[in-house]
Amino acid sequence: SVEIRKVDKFYGPFQALKAVDLSIPPGKVTCLIGPSGSGKSTLLRCINFLEEYDSGEIRIDGKLIGYDAPGKKAPGRKLREMRRSIGMVFQQFNLWPHMTAKENVAEGLMRVRGMSKVEAGRRAAEALTKVGLADKMENHPSRLSGGQQQRVAIARAIAMEPNLMLFDEPTSALDPELVGEVLNVMKTLAAEGMTMVVVTHEMGFAAHVADQVAFMEKGELVGVDTPDKILHQPEDPRIQSFLRTYH
Ligand code: ATP
Ligand code: MG
Repeated sequence: SVEIRKVDKFYGPFQALKAVDLSIPPGKVTCLIGPSGSGKSTLLRCINFLEEYDSGEIRIDGKLIGYDAPGKKAPGRKLREMRRSIGMVFQQFNLWPHMTAKENVAEGLMRVRGMSKVEAGRRAAEALTKVGLADKMENHPSRLSGGQQQRVAIARAIAMEPNLMLFDEPTSALDPELVGEVLNVMKTLAAEGMTMVVVTHEMGFAAHVADQVAFMEKGELVGVDTPDKILHQPEDPRIQSFLRTYH
């Protein structure tokens, strides 16, 4: 599980996260919603310590993220080790254009996991098959649709066998007709019991796949509850007014 306790994050004088508390249960899907600039990406980036938080703590399975002890920053080597168990998928797919789909997935396995080319290739093929790209492994990104590229990015993350997957608006850069194939891959992962945190504007996905939905506004975590409670019967007027913009 991920336990986020009283996390504050400042960019200079600007407070991007305000005493954020959130528990992310293992094997469940947590969707994070809220207006632009509310701190959703910042929170995700704090979870894998791409971003340093200023106070509070984030623990993954009891282990403090980014720090050896409160106030004592972990060395870079240790951070990389912590990050290894966390997969992240962004809005932009960030694939290497000069590599095939399979090479894109295998690269991290060789570089980070020290696997041989053959072993990494085998594992990459498995991951690509899982996301429905068995027949596109030798394609370069320029020969893949946006949805396929994003599925390669997901394959790249799951090939590392993470305990936790973070998704930051994984379908926002896609043409509408390509959104479904990516969400379906995510649904499969969820059904297999992957712990997932998903920042999304796809309210249908949040309603049907999330175990809990958290709503953020202006750096505050305003509410967290079942999808039904947050999306269909929100009590907080800030959530009500946000959801009205979607209808
Ligand atoms: P969106 O839905 O548009 O992606 P978000 O909820 O993900 O928004 P964040 O990217 O977390 O929002 O940003 C939260 C706030 O922090 C915003 O006001 C943003 O301008 C500010 N911010 C984010 N990154 C930085 C940075 N590197 N330096 C200064 N301010 C930043
Ligand atoms: Mg964002």
